[in-house]
Amino acid sequence: MYKNLYLRKGKEESLKRFHPWIFSGAVHHIDGEPEEGEVVRVLTSEGDFMAVGHWQIGSIAVRVLSFEDCTVDAAFWERRLQVAYQLRRTVGLAGRVENDIYRLVYGEGDGLSGLVVDVYGPTAVMQAHSVGMHVSRMEIAKAIVKVTDGDIKNVYYKSETTLPFKAGLGQENGFIIGGSTENVAVENGLKFHIDWLKGQKTGFFVDQRDNRSLLEHYAHGRSVLNMFCYTGGFSVYAMRGGAELVHSVDSSAKAVDLTNANIALNFPGDKRHEAYAEDAFKYLDTMENRYDLIVLDPPAFAKHRDALRQALKGYSRLNSKAFEKIKSGGLLFTFSCSQVVSKEHFRTAVFTAAAQSKRRVRILHQLHQPVDHPIDIYHPEGEYLKGLVLYVE
Ligand code: SAH
Repeated sequence: MYKNLYLRKGKEESLKRFHPWIFSGAVHHIDGEPEEGEVVRVLTSEGDFMAVGHWQIGSIAVRVLSFEDCTVDAAFWERRLQVAYQLRRTVGLAGRVENDIYRLVYGEGDGLSGLVVDVYGPTAVMQAHSVGMHVSRMEIAKAIVKVTDGDIKNVYYKSETTLPFKAGLGQENGFIIGGSTENVAVENGLKFHIDWLKGQKTGFFVDQRDNRSLLEHYAHGRSVLNMFCYTGGFSVYAMRGGAELVHSVDSSAKAVDLTNANIALNFPGDKRHEAYAEDAFKYLDTMENRYDLIVLDPPAFAKHRDALRQALKGYSRLNSKAFEKIKSGGLLFTFSCSQVVSKEHFRTAVFTAAAQSKRRVRILHQLHQPVDHPIDIYHPEGEYLKGLVLYVE
């Protein structure tokens, strides 16, 4: 039987609205001393049942797993993963030959707070952000293999940098089911080397899939600059879309190598593409006015709310350089993946940059995270990726 955690009086309000986090300040006491990562039952101060969830030390004390009283066992993980997999099949992402890259689990968006799973062909890369998910990793990994109809055979556990440091788990990255050195996967018919061993996050930015497709649609005959290219995702799509030239830039030399490798995988020997290892601001300052399609997909400028103002300035500064240099009739794809920067914030930052340039700028598209990053309506914090496609005269 799980230990009971009692909330302070009145602190159950957010749970009544199905928000999955319980902050430590809301906790009155726990019967017994749970280990970090243990499942606890959450009760109101009156003793009424509210939820079961993973307990850990930190600002978020409990991550809710269910608002119904249930046992978190192998069958529980299978049910949740089955639902997650079914969603990806329903929207036409899983179980296809021309696309085997998708996010199978997006934390709260899949009722699994603290867990992220990205799929690359037969390999799932799993990241735990909570001690509870870490403790349950083997059950979860087995459930992934079981519910995916033989699609997934290997599970690579990559939580070295995502688990709470203070928990002192000393976890190392590695396969926990199967093993594979085959690391080429397919997104919309394009091939990508996925570096889950050393790459950022789970090895690839799955979340830009739809936005890359949109760029492909507009790329024909254009001179494209893909700034912050990482694996070269946007560049590969621009090439297929018939761009006249594609330049990829990233400050990391490893990213530039990855981009070159991915271009070579899809368009061997194609001279339209070149990649440069350089700082974005420096490159934008010194480049010629030759591009009529620019992508700006920087890393999160604000990781915390305190950094918001600085981040907005950063977005303005970055975008104003693109407005200065983009050719007339150009398209600017500009993004922010900072969760604390809202759509409105971001739009204001881009507005500021546009006004400085004194150019006529119109919004053609407002972009978003894709369907395999669903937002739980009760957990708006799950919304993080936003972008604009602008027509600049
Ligand atoms: N657009 C990519 C993801 C970008 S991730 C995709 O579709 O997959 C952000 C990238 O920005 C990282 O690869 C990082 O190396 C790079 N980066 C961070 N700071 C930078 C800077 N100042 N100048 C250029 N690149 C930078």
